[in-house]
Amino acid sequence: MTTSFVSPRLLMIGGGAVGKVAEVLGQFGLSKPLVVTDPWMVSSDTVEKALAPLRAGGMNPGVFSDTVPDPTDTVIEAGVAAMKAGDYDCLVGFGGGSPMDTAKAMAILGAAPAGAKMRDFKVPAQANRGALPVICIPTTAGTGSEATRFTVITDTERDEKMLIAGLGALPLAAVVDYELTFSVPPRTTADTGIDSLTHALEAFVSKRANDEADEYALRAMRLIAPNLRTVYREPSNAIARAAMMKGATLAGIAFSNSSVALVHGMSRPIGAHFHVPHGLSNAMLLPAVTEYSLNAALPRYAEAARAMGVATSSEGDQSAGAKLLQELRDLNRDLAVPTPGAFGIDAAKWDGLLTTMADQALASGSPANNPAVPGAEE
Ligand code: NAD
Repeated sequence: MTTSFVSPRLLMIGGGAVGKVAEVLGQFGLSKPLVVTDPWMVSSDTVEKALAPLRAGGMNPGVFSDTVPDPTDTVIEAGVAAMKAGDYDCLVGFGGGSPMDTAKAMAILGAAPAGAKMRDFKVPAQANRGALPVICIPTTAGTGSEATRFTVITDTERDEKMLIAGLGALPLAAVVDYELTFSVPPRTTADTGIDSLTHALEAFVSKRANDEADEYALRAMRLIAPNLRTVYREPSNAIARAAMMKGATLAGIAFSNSSVALVHGMSRPIGAHFHVPHGLSNAMLLPAVTEYSLNAALPRYAEAARAMGVATSSEGDQSAGAKLLQELRDLNRDLAVPTPGAFGIDAAKWDGLLTTMADQALASGSPANNPAVPGAEE
């Protein structure tokens, strides 16, 4: 029996880390970065927080800023063209999960023969090759993409958010600087924060959970659970922002070495068809999926409740599990998570797509890792 464990080769974590990005590249002998980011990062000048230290390190970074939320295969193809048009030796993903996933997917598609499509790499394929090394700098405390072996790309022909996995998507290094998250608005702070909590919880209850991933998942829950409401209400609270950012990265390592499960499996089709932000669709699903799954892995959910600080160590599993469920419902109330209807999802369109979405969720493989595995009807 063998086990394997993956994480970036270098993880730099802490306030001001982005100022050392040239140093990080230099340690790997890299000097010609293409920074992959989104339009807001450019219009708000936030991208300068990465570009300025790169220039100060004597580098002349290029910028690809055409990424979109829930990145699409067509944007990746445009990114690969930009990457190949320049003499770059690495990609720097700077932003939330969308720009980081774009950089990772560009590396994968860029290593493939001409004519290849992102869908060729959809799970269960393994996207192990990358054309260029990827360094990630997250600006949201959420996806953990900076530390995972995944990228999530939308197939525009089929309206499908595809999970793509493999070492080609694993960043060489991650520069994790919580100071970049002070500007994240409350709604996105809440959505991305619940995303990271969902990563840790799903990694911990997954059928693919293991000792190593458990340690990261538990540490992540200890950091995220007591700080999520604080960052939502007090955006400039540095201690809470730092805890959330570290927690998000640790949760990324956890699910990268275990898995996500039913929440993520169901969340992707909702994102693809209704453009609900990823963390928000996770939040909408988390209490109901936990209620559905609770008794199939009660001791695990109870341990998660204790790590999150909502149950005590002397409490039995039944009581701890019930408290976890209540906490997830309270969290959605406190973070003003809307129902799908209140978000503006059209009920008729929703009903019409239910079978398609159920099939897409099950085909993604993630629900099979859930403690309780539903059929399409459920
Ligand atoms: P995002 O990257 O789409 O960003 C959401 C919004 O927040 C954007 O408008 C962006 O400009 C803004 N933003 C980002 N940082 C900001 C900052 N510091 N200040 C102000 N605004 C800021 O959202 P996300 O939730 O970070 O990423 C979601 C994507 O990540 C989805 O496509 C999801 O499927 C994917 N994802 C990937 C993995 C993985 O392992 N690869 C894991 C989970 C989710």
